Amino acid sequence: MSDTPNEDELTGGAPTPAGRKSVERIGDRKLKPSTMMMGHGYDPMLSEGALKPPIFLTSTFVFPNAAAGKRHFEGVTGKRPGGSEGLVYSRFNGPNQEILEDRLGVWEEAEDALAFSSGMSAIATLFLSMVKPGDTIVHSGPLYAATETLIGRILGKFGVNWLDFPAGATREEIDAVLRQAAGNGNVALIYLESPANPTNALVDIQAVAASRDAIFTGETKPPIAIDNTFLGPLWLQPLKHGADIVVYSLTKYAGGHSDLVAGGVLGTKEHINTIRSMRNTIGTICDPNTAWMLMRSLETLELRMSRAGENAIKVCEFLRTHPNVERVGYLGFLESTPGMERQADIYRRHCTGAGSTFSLIVKGGEKEAFAFLDALKIAKLAVSLGGTETLASHPAAMTHLSVPEERKQALGITDNLVRISIGVEDADDLIADFAQALDSF
Ligand SMILES: *Cc1c(COP(=O)(O)O)cnc(C)c1O
Repeated sequence: MSDTPNEDELTGGAPTPAGRKSVERIGDRKLKPSTMMMGHGYDPMLSEGALKPPIFLTSTFVFPNAAAGKRHFEGVTGKRPGGSEGLVYSRFNGPNQEILEDRLGVWEEAEDALAFSSGMSAIATLFLSMVKPGDTIVHSGPLYAATETLIGRILGKFGVNWLDFPAGATREEIDAVLRQAAGNGNVALIYLESPANPTNALVDIQAVAASRDAIFTGETKPPIAIDNTFLGPLWLQPLKHGADIVVYSLTKYAGGHSDLVAGGVLGTKEHINTIRSMRNTIGTICDPNTAWMLMRSLETLELRMSRAGENAIKVCEFLRTHPNVERVGYLGFLESTPGMERQADIYRRHCTGAGSTFSLIVKGGEKEAFAFLDALKIAKLAVSLGGTETLASHPAAMTHLSVPEERKQALGITDNLVRISIGVEDADDLIADFAQALDSF
């Protein structure tokens, strides 16, 4: 016997679902996600030794024999649970998407994961797989605008009901809404988004899970899904706090370069199998090229998010001291903001970082906010977030333009509120840019 570890020690003896071996531990040491992003789920020897996975541009896959084809279809059609053991047709899956899914799951230690063509197609596929006419979706509010449209206007047309509670709700408030929903029939899904956009209000996932477990039993217990786009996977891992399913717009921090649109869903095998059958039917999977770009992005995810988070701390510390700034709505300041004790408590229990997306409330109104935005030289004026570059936008006049005035007031979407997503530039350069823009009005 030699001193070098044998293959089973290197792999932990765990072949990935498609049979590709992966290094998940060395001896007793479980490898960290940032290490696993370089090779997990990919065997170069299956691709002529190519260090990086090739992009598999093919619409269909050849079966080794007819019996194998039959077995694969038993998996695809759900006759046998767990999906296909091999590749069949590119609407169902492909090598790039499977490797990506294996790697996505690693960050939150999820049992399984799925990749989608957009964040919204991920959310739509999740909803379609879980609800039927007469069911109720209970959700935190506000939600990403397109998600609210999907629940209220589109699923509503098919007889699906909804009830919501405010993102910052207490256990008692959550209990009251869940009890009311339970009294109205089947609650199919509890759907959360935290922090809420653009208020940054955090949802108490632990309280939602405790409330769900107290009010529902057995078969009637609805799964808890959460949109983790703003803080995941680095700063918030909802599966560890009681959520069953995590949803991502991978367009944002995960993609991270503002050059692709994609989505993801993570969770238990059971839930993922349900969602996978719907994806197989309607074809909301992401394409191989996007999957490949996302794999490249995941290699630097921790580097990018860490740097953006450190930059945001420095920039926000500067912004809060500037005379033309009324307030900075940044999660890192919850602890030191009077009246925010409950939110600070949720933050302490759930989050490991404050992220890099926040609200800047300037002194004045739309005129001052627009003057600030128009004066920026480094930060780009665009919606979206989580990219390597710093972006700034004006929710009241842009993303939330169609929200009725009353609701805007209730959500605190005022004319002097600017949304900022900090990138990975030099922090002092960004501070110089914000300083000159704030001095311009
Ligand atoms: C962007 C976004 C979405 C939608 O994702 P797409 O990739 O644009 O479809 C959903 N939820 C949140 C919180 C988002 O920021």
